[in-house]
Amino acid sequence: MTDQDLEKFQSLIDNAHSIVFFGGAGVSTESGIPDFRSQDGLYNQKYKYPPEEIISHTFFIHRTEEFYEFYKDRMLFLDAEPNVTHKTLAKLEKAGKLSAVVTQNIDGLHQRAGSKNVFELHGSVLRNYCTKCRKFYDVNFIKNSKGVPLCSCGGVIKPDVVLYEEGLDMRIVDGAIQAIEDADLLIIAGTSLVVQPAAGLINYYHGKDIVLINKTPTLADYRATIAFHEPMGEVFSRLKI
Ligand code: ZN
Repeated sequence: MTDQDLEKFQSLIDNAHSIVFFGGAGVSTESGIPDFRSQDGLYNQKYKYPPEEIISHTFFIHRTEEFYEFYKDRMLFLDAEPNVTHKTLAKLEKAGKLSAVVTQNIDGLHQRAGSKNVFELHGSVLRNYCTKCRKFYDVNFIKNSKGVPLCSCGGVIKPDVVLYEEGLDMRIVDGAIQAIEDADLLIIAGTSLVVQPAAGLINYYHGKDIVLINKTPTLADYRATIAFHEPMGEVFSRLKI
Protein backbone atom coordinates (compact mmCIF):
# COMPACT_ATOMS: atom_id res chain seq x y z
CA MET A 1 0.00 0.00 0.00
CA THR A 2 1.48 3.31 -1.01
CA ASP A 3 1.11 6.55 0.96
CA GLN A 4 -0.30 8.06 -2.17
CA ASP A 5 -3.16 5.52 -2.28
CA LEU A 6 -3.88 6.07 1.41
CA GLU A 7 -3.95 9.84 1.01
CA LYS A 8 -6.28 9.49 -1.95
CA PHE A 9 -8.58 7.19 0.07
CA GLN A 10 -8.55 9.66 2.97
CA SER A 11 -9.45 12.52 0.66
CA LEU A 12 -12.29 10.53 -0.97
CA ILE A 13 -13.71 9.87 2.51
CA ASP A 14 -13.24 13.47 3.60
CA ASN A 15 -15.20 14.68 0.58
CA ALA A 16 -17.98 12.07 0.68
CA HIS A 17 -21.36 12.46 2.36
CA SER A 18 -23.13 9.16 1.67
CA ILE A 19 -20.57 6.38 1.65
CA VAL A 20 -21.83 2.84 1.23
CA PHE A 21 -19.64 0.01 2.45
CA PHE A 22 -20.18 -3.33 0.78
CA GLY A 23 -18.49 -6.12 2.71
CA GLY A 24 -17.94 -9.85 2.56
CA ALA A 25 -16.36 -12.60 4.63
CA GLY A 26 -12.98 -10.85 4.68
CA VAL A 27 -14.40 -8.17 7.00
CA SER A 28 -14.93 -10.71 9.78
CA THR A 29 -11.91 -12.95 9.30
CA GLU A 30 -9.87 -10.36 11.19
CA SER A 31 -12.25 -10.90 14.12
CA GLY A 32 -11.37 -14.59 14.03
CA ILE A 33 -14.43 -15.73 12.10
CA PRO A 34 -13.26 -17.99 9.30
CA ASP A 35 -15.02 -18.08 5.97
CA PHE A 36 -17.14 -21.22 6.39
CA ARG A 37 -16.38 -22.16 2.80
CA SER A 38 -12.69 -22.50 3.55
CA GLN A 39 -11.94 -26.14 4.16
CA ASP A 40 -9.00 -26.94 6.37
CA GLY A 41 -7.53 -30.34 7.11
CA LEU A 42 -9.83 -30.89 10.05
CA TYR A 43 -12.82 -30.21 7.91
CA ASN A 44 -12.25 -33.14 5.62
CA GLN A 45 -11.84 -35.53 8.51
CA LYS A 46 -15.05 -34.42 10.12
CA TYR A 47 -17.58 -33.71 7.38
CA LYS A 48 -18.65 -35.90 4.51
CA TYR A 49 -20.19 -33.08 2.47
CA PRO A 50 -18.91 -29.78 1.09
CA PRO A 51 -20.06 -26.73 3.11
CA GLU A 52 -22.21 -25.45 0.24
CA GLU A 53 -24.21 -28.66 0.40
CA ILE A 54 -24.58 -28.68 4.18
CA ILE A 55 -25.68 -25.04 4.29
CA SER A 56 -28.47 -25.64 1.80
CA HIS A 57 -32.23 -25.66 2.25
CA THR A 58 -32.50 -29.30 1.15
CA PHE A 59 -29.86 -30.39 3.64
CA PHE A 60 -31.51 -28.44 6.46
CA ILE A 61 -34.84 -30.15 5.76
CA HIS A 62 -33.55 -33.70 5.32
CA ARG A 63 -30.44 -33.84 7.51
CA THR A 64 -31.25 -31.29 10.18
CA GLU A 65 -29.04 -32.87 12.82
CA GLU A 66 -25.94 -32.88 10.60
CA PHE A 67 -26.77 -29.35 9.49
CA TYR A 68 -26.72 -28.16 13.10
CA GLU A 69 -23.56 -30.07 13.91
CA PHE A 70 -21.75 -28.12 11.19
CA TYR A 71 -23.58 -24.87 11.86
CA LYS A 72 -22.77 -24.72 15.58
CA ASP A 73 -19.20 -25.77 14.93
CA ARG A 74 -18.33 -23.63 11.90
CA MET A 75 -20.73 -20.70 11.80
CA LEU A 76 -21.28 -19.59 15.39
CA PHE A 77 -18.43 -17.59 16.91
CA LEU A 78 -20.03 -15.94 19.88
CA ASP A 79 -16.77 -14.73 21.41
CA ALA A 80 -15.79 -12.75 18.29
CA GLU A 81 -15.45 -9.00 18.78
CA PRO A 82 -15.80 -6.19 16.21
CA ASN A 83 -12.44 -5.23 14.68
CA VAL A 84 -11.02 -1.90 13.54
CA THR A 85 -12.94 -2.04 10.24
CA HIS A 86 -16.32 -2.53 11.97
CA LYS A 87 -15.48 0.24 14.45
CA THR A 88 -14.28 2.72 11.83
CA LEU A 89 -17.44 2.22 9.78
CA ALA A 90 -19.59 2.85 12.85
CA LYS A 91 -17.65 6.08 13.47
CA LEU A 92 -18.14 7.16 9.85
CA GLU A 93 -21.90 6.61 10.17
CA LYS A 94 -22.01 8.58 13.41
CA ALA A 95 -20.06 11.40 11.73
CA GLY A 96 -22.78 11.56 9.07
CA LYS A 97 -20.49 10.40 6.28
CA LEU A 98 -21.60 6.83 5.80
CA SER A 99 -25.20 6.06 4.88
CA ALA A 100 -25.23 2.26 4.91
CA VAL A 101 -23.34 -0.95 5.38
CA VAL A 102 -24.35 -3.76 3.05
CA THR A 103 -22.97 -7.06 4.27
CA GLN A 104 -22.86 -10.67 3.22
CA ASN A 105 -21.86 -11.62 6.76
CA ILE A 106 -24.26 -13.10 9.28
CA ASP A 107 -22.39 -12.45 12.52
CA GLY A 108 -23.99 -9.17 13.60
CA LEU A 109 -20.59 -7.57 14.28
CA HIS A 110 -21.40 -4.31 12.47
CA GLN A 111 -24.29 -3.66 14.83
CA ARG A 112 -22.16 -4.69 17.81
CA ALA A 113 -19.65 -2.03 16.73
CA GLY A 114 -22.44 0.57 16.67
CA SER A 115 -23.56 0.66 13.03
CA LYS A 116 -27.29 1.34 12.68
CA ASN A 117 -28.16 1.14 9.00
CA VAL A 118 -27.01 -2.36 8.07
CA PHE A 119 -28.46 -4.42 5.24
CA GLU A 120 -27.76 -8.06 6.04
CA LEU A 121 -28.17 -9.73 2.66
CA HIS A 122 -27.73 -13.20 4.11
CA GLY A 123 -29.53 -12.71 7.41
CA SER A 124 -28.11 -13.10 10.91
CA VAL A 125 -27.23 -15.96 13.22
CA LEU A 126 -28.48 -13.78 16.07
CA ARG A 127 -32.11 -14.28 14.98
CA ASN A 128 -33.75 -17.70 15.02
CA TYR A 129 -37.37 -18.68 14.58
CA CYS A 130 -39.54 -21.72 15.17
CA THR A 131 -40.63 -23.08 11.78
CA LYS A 132 -44.05 -23.91 13.25
CA CYS A 133 -45.12 -21.01 15.49
CA ARG A 134 -42.49 -18.34 14.56
CA LYS A 135 -41.40 -17.87 18.19
CA PHE A 136 -38.04 -16.05 18.42
CA TYR A 137 -34.93 -17.61 19.93
CA ASP A 138 -31.56 -15.98 20.50
CA VAL A 139 -28.24 -17.42 19.40
CA ASN A 140 -27.30 -18.70 22.86
CA PHE A 141 -30.33 -20.94 22.82
CA ILE A 142 -29.09 -22.44 19.56
CA LYS A 143 -25.49 -22.78 20.71
CA ASN A 144 -26.47 -24.43 23.99
CA SER A 145 -29.06 -26.79 22.53
CA LYS A 146 -28.26 -30.48 22.23
CA GLY A 147 -28.63 -31.67 18.66
CA VAL A 148 -31.48 -30.01 16.77
CA PRO A 149 -32.83 -26.97 18.65
CA LEU A 150 -36.54 -27.39 19.26
CA CYS A 151 -39.22 -24.85 20.21
CA SER A 152 -41.43 -25.27 23.26
CA CYS A 153 -44.18 -26.15 20.75
CA GLY A 154 -42.07 -28.98 19.35
CA GLY A 155 -41.24 -27.22 16.08
CA VAL A 156 -37.72 -27.14 14.63
CA ILE A 157 -35.97 -23.78 15.05
CA LYS A 158 -34.31 -22.33 11.95
CA PRO A 159 -31.70 -19.58 11.89
CA ASP A 160 -32.74 -16.41 10.04
CA VAL A 161 -29.91 -17.06 7.62
CA VAL A 162 -30.31 -17.35 3.86
CA LEU A 163 -29.28 -20.90 2.96
CA TYR A 164 -28.20 -22.03 -0.47
CA GLU A 165 -31.29 -22.57 -2.70
CA GLU A 166 -33.19 -19.94 -0.72
CA GLY A 167 -34.05 -16.49 -2.07
CA LEU A 168 -32.90 -13.25 -0.52
CA ASP A 169 -35.31 -11.03 1.39
CA MET A 170 -36.30 -8.56 -1.33
CA ARG A 171 -37.00 -5.76 1.17
CA ILE A 172 -33.37 -5.96 2.24
CA VAL A 173 -32.09 -6.18 -1.33
CA ASP A 174 -34.21 -3.16 -2.33
CA GLY A 175 -32.89 -1.18 0.63
CA ALA A 176 -29.33 -2.03 -0.32
CA ILE A 177 -29.93 -1.06 -3.95
CA GLN A 178 -31.43 2.27 -2.90
CA ALA A 179 -28.45 3.02 -0.66
CA ILE A 180 -25.97 2.08 -3.40
CA GLU A 181 -27.83 4.19 -5.98
CA ASP A 182 -27.66 7.21 -3.68
CA ALA A 183 -24.03 6.71 -2.66
CA ASP A 184 -21.26 9.14 -3.52
CA LEU A 185 -18.48 6.70 -2.59
CA LEU A 186 -18.58 2.92 -2.70
CA ILE A 187 -16.12 0.88 -0.66
CA ILE A 188 -16.06 -2.82 -1.48
CA ALA A 189 -14.10 -4.96 0.92
CA GLY A 190 -13.40 -8.57 1.76
CA THR A 191 -15.32 -10.10 -1.09
CA SER A 192 -14.09 -11.59 -4.33
CA LEU A 193 -17.37 -10.48 -5.94
CA VAL A 194 -17.87 -13.80 -7.71
CA VAL A 195 -21.03 -14.70 -5.79
CA GLN A 196 -24.32 -13.14 -6.84
CA PRO A 197 -25.99 -10.88 -5.94
CA ALA A 198 -22.82 -9.09 -4.84
CA ALA A 199 -21.51 -8.68 -8.36
CA GLY A 200 -24.87 -7.42 -9.61
CA LEU A 201 -25.57 -5.02 -6.75
CA ILE A 202 -22.54 -2.87 -7.39
CA ASN A 203 -23.85 -2.12 -10.89
CA TYR A 204 -26.43 0.14 -9.23
CA TYR A 205 -23.67 2.50 -8.20
CA HIS A 206 -23.57 5.67 -10.31
CA GLY A 207 -20.86 7.54 -8.42
CA LYS A 208 -17.41 8.23 -9.69
CA ASP A 209 -15.14 6.49 -7.23
CA ILE A 210 -14.92 2.90 -6.01
CA VAL A 211 -12.38 1.79 -3.44
CA LEU A 212 -11.63 -1.93 -3.29
CA ILE A 213 -9.95 -3.71 -0.43
CA ASN A 214 -9.35 -7.41 -0.88
CA LYS A 215 -6.37 -9.68 -0.32
CA THR A 216 -6.51 -10.92 -3.88
CA PRO A 217 -7.50 -9.05 -7.06
CA THR A 218 -11.21 -9.08 -7.89
CA LEU A 219 -13.31 -8.84 -11.02
CA ALA A 220 -14.06 -5.20 -10.20
CA ASP A 221 -10.45 -4.01 -9.80
CA TYR A 222 -10.56 -2.46 -13.25
CA ARG A 223 -13.39 -0.17 -12.12
CA ALA A 224 -11.72 0.88 -8.91
CA THR A 225 -10.14 4.26 -8.32
CA ILE A 226 -7.93 2.56 -5.74
CA ALA A 227 -7.51 -1.17 -5.13
CA PHE A 228 -5.79 -2.23 -1.90
CA HIS A 229 -4.58 -5.79 -1.65
CA GLU A 230 -3.50 -5.53 1.98
CA PRO A 231 -5.21 -6.77 5.15
CA MET A 232 -8.30 -4.61 5.66
CA GLY A 233 -7.43 -3.68 9.25
CA GLU A 234 -4.15 -2.17 8.10
CA VAL A 235 -5.98 0.11 5.67
CA PHE A 236 -8.77 1.14 8.06
CA SER A 237 -6.50 1.67 11.06
CA ARG A 238 -4.64 4.36 9.12
CA LEU A 239 -7.70 6.47 8.32
CA LYS A 240 -8.42 9.60 10.29
CA ILE A 241 -12.10 10.02 11.06
ZN1 ZN B 1 -42.82 -23.11 18.06
